Amino acid sequence: MSPVAIARPGLMDGKALSVAWRDALALAVAAWTKAGGRPPGLAVVRVGDDPASAVYVRQKTLAAREAGFEVSDVVLNESATQDQVLAALGELGARSDVDGLMLQLPVPGHLVTDALLEAIPPERDVDGLGVWQAGRLGIGAPDLRPCTPAGIMALLEAHGIVLAGARALVIGRSRIVGRPMAQLLLGADATVTVAHSRSRDLPDWIAEAEVVVVAAGRPGFLPGTAFAPGAVVIDVGIHPKPGGGLVGDVDWGGQAPAVAAWTPVPGGVGPMTVTMLLVNTWQAHGRREGHPPLAAPVAS
Ligand code: NAP
Repeated sequence: MSPVAIARPGLMDGKALSVAWRDALALAVAAWTKAGGRPPGLAVVRVGDDPASAVYVRQKTLAAREAGFEVSDVVLNESATQDQVLAALGELGARSDVDGLMLQLPVPGHLVTDALLEAIPPERDVDGLGVWQAGRLGIGAPDLRPCTPAGIMALLEAHGIVLAGARALVIGRSRIVGRPMAQLLLGADATVTVAHSRSRDLPDWIAEAEVVVVAAGRPGFLPGTAFAPGAVVIDVGIHPKPGGGLVGDVDWGGQAPAVAAWTPVPGGVGPMTVTMLLVNTWQAHGRREGHPPLAAPVAS
C-alpha cells in the first residue's frame, strides 16, 4: 500500500488552526461592521441542565462573541414540551437579526429531535443537521456543512493531505458525524468505507485504510497499533477521564503516535467544530447581506 500524500505530516493541531480561522473571521466581521454593516447573529437553544451541553454552548457563544457576533443564548427548562421548544425555535428563526440558529443536542428524552431540527429554517441551519442540508450534501452540493465533519475537512486540507483516490475509513454512522463525514470525503474523491457496530473484520479495514476517522463514541476503544504506519488518524471521540481531563476513541498508550498524521484529544477536532459553526454563520449572514464566505487561512 502506498501511503497517502501529506504536505505537512505530524500532529494536526486543531487549536492552532482554529485560532487562524477565528482571527481571519474576527477581522472580516470588524471590517464589515466598521463599514456600517449589521453584525452576524447566532442563536443557540439549549434544553435542560446537561453539564456537558452547558460547557459546549459556553464555548460556542464565547467564541462567537469574541468574533464580533451578536449572540442569543436561550436556555429552556428540562421539562419544556415539544411545542414550547418548537415555539422558541420558530420565534428565533423568524428574527431578522438571527443568521444562524442551532439546537444543542442531545435534548431530553421526551422531545423528538428530528422534528425539532426541522423547525430550523434551512438557510439558518448553521449546524447543517436538517433534512435540507443533509439532502444537499447527499447530492454532492454542500451548503452549510455539519460542523464536526467540516472542521475535519479543514484540518485535512490545512495539512495538505491528498484525499483524491485515498482509501478512507469512517468508523461511525451518526447523523452528526459519521454520515456527513463519509459524504464530504466522497466529495473530495476519496474511496470511502463506513464501519459501524455491526461491521465484521474491523481490524482488517483499519489496517488497509490510509485515512481513518474514528467516531465510535467509545473511550480508547482502538489502540494506536491498529493503524498502518502511513495512516492519517482523526480521533473525534471526546470523553471525560476519571480524575479530570479528556480522552478520545484512540488509545495511543502514552506513546508518540506511530502514524503519519493524527489529531490530539483535546485540541484536535473539538475546537474546529466550534470554529466551523462561526464560519457557517458568517456564510449564512453573507447570503443575506451580500458578502462572500470566509476563505481558509493560508497554512504556515
Ligand atoms: P453516536 O451517535 O453514539 O454514534 C457512534 C457510532 O459509532 C454509531 O454509528 C455506532 O454504530 C458506531 N460504533 C459504536 N461502537 C462501534 C464499534 N465497536 N465498532 C464500530 N462502530 C461502532 O456518536 P456521535 O454523535 O457520532 O459521536 C461520536 C463521538 O464523537 C462521541 O465520543 C462524541 O462525544 C464525539 N463528538 C465529538 C465532537 C467534537 O467536536 N470533537 C462532535 C460530535 C461528537 P451503530 O450505528 O451500529 O450503533
